[in-house]
Amino acid sequence: MTLYIDYDACLKEPTCPAATYCSTKALYFHPEESRLFFNPDLCNGCGQCIQKCALNALSLFETTEELGIFLEKITRARENFTSKLESIIGLK
Ligand code: SF4
Repeated sequence: MTLYIDYDACLKEPTCPAATYCSTKALYFHPEESRLFFNPDLCNGCGQCIQKCALNALSLFETTEELGIFLEKITRARENFTSKLESIIGLK
């Protein structure tokens, strides 16, 4: 399994419920880095972290190929949003 952490959406709190409910400690808060980390070797794919994150900052994938497709879609969506926004406010 592999986990995408949207650090723009994540509050980066030590009390993160997603990390707290991860029974294998695959998802954990690193105090010195002040953010979540993910260890794919420990993840069992239970999905608890996804359900506990109220901000939808986490996405779980079975393969890195699926994650790659997801990241391409996010990048395209952000580019489209930026382009439309620039058009609306007259920068284009
Ligand atoms: S899917 Fe389960 S084991 Fe994997 S990071 Fe999330 S809570 Fe932890």
